[in-house]
Amino acid sequence: MIPILDSKRQYAKIGKELEKAVVEVMQSGQYILGKNNKEFEAEFASYCTTKYAVALNSGTDALHIALRALDIGEGDEVITTAFTFVATTEAIGIVGAKPVFADIDKDTFNIDPDKIEELITPKTKAIIPVHLYGQPCEMDKIMDIAKRHNLKVIEDACQAVGAEYKGQKVGSFGDFGCFSFYPTKNLGTMGDGGMLVTNDESLRNRAVALRNHGGAVRYYHDEIGVNSRLDEIQAAILRVKLPYIDEWNAARKANAEYYNELFKDCDDVVTPVELHDTKCIYHQYTVKIPARDAVHKMLVENGVGAMLYYPVPLHMQKVHKYLNIPENSLPNTVENTKLVISLPMFPELTREEQQTVAKTLMDCIKACK
Ligand SMILES: *Cc1c(COP(=O)(O)O)cnc(C)c1O
Repeated sequence: MIPILDSKRQYAKIGKELEKAVVEVMQSGQYILGKNNKEFEAEFASYCTTKYAVALNSGTDALHIALRALDIGEGDEVITTAFTFVATTEAIGIVGAKPVFADIDKDTFNIDPDKIEELITPKTKAIIPVHLYGQPCEMDKIMDIAKRHNLKVIEDACQAVGAEYKGQKVGSFGDFGCFSFYPTKNLGTMGDGGMLVTNDESLRNRAVALRNHGGAVRYYHDEIGVNSRLDEIQAAILRVKLPYIDEWNAARKANAEYYNELFKDCDDVVTPVELHDTKCIYHQYTVKIPARDAVHKMLVENGVGAMLYYPVPLHMQKVHKYLNIPENSLPNTVENTKLVISLPMFPELTREEQQTVAKTLMDCIKACK
């Protein structure tokens, strides 16, 4: 079986370093909001070229706390994409706001900036672009729309640590950038973890208070907050891993290029599109194929751990039934949901494995015709 991701191979390379860092935390007696948290926040902010970073328990909390810190809630509308993981809109729902879906660009899978403005109403407060699969959104167009309509921008960069748009790191364009360190992400920890980045000091301070029971000073509480801290063990693990991220992203990119090469003469496999002047980090390598469901089933039966991200677009999920959005109102989203398949992708994937994946995929497509 060639898995979609094999975390054990990374552990085999840097396990000793990780074990040392974890033991040090265990021996220190300081397990929450200690030295590793502080240092990792500084290191991550520096990596993202933002002034501040606030470490949290998950990417979902990063999105939710960003909305809270921007005072977005009941009666407000937030424009985003339906072609993403549910956490993006879950956060909008948690604060009592309403998600409004713009269709995607069919080549990049990301929110189509040209579909945003027609959705803006007096209730619209923010845009949440999602850098899906590690592919940057068109941030200059999105920031321009936000500026002209006085909207906030919260980037969902949960799949895109290190991706760049026109030489600038994603997450550093908007009012907030949100990151996840869930184990399968391109910078994954060994539990849950997340991060907010921002250049605004008052937003940073508000997020710091919200993550720790709504108060900046211990036992003095100004508002209803949450318990969403990154524990010291996870912070220590992430501090070991962060210096490797560019190397790992480069390996993903090289693997993507090799897949492209393997599929070059196969018209049935539509390989990923990269926009000009972007750095994609290939959190996923996602292609479009005919007879997707049948091919997917056969691929898995033949030992290739391919996945469907995501099988149901968010406007068709039961949780969003109350919004009454017609399925065909987002044609590119619906069409791509039926075509996409993500192939094994991680830095340690070998050329031989990629050859097997590509050959098996092409054989399965032929067999399903
Ligand atoms: C993983 C993910 C999240 C949520 O992150 P968690 O750390 O699992 O809460 C949000 N948005 C996107 C696009 C994601 O891929």
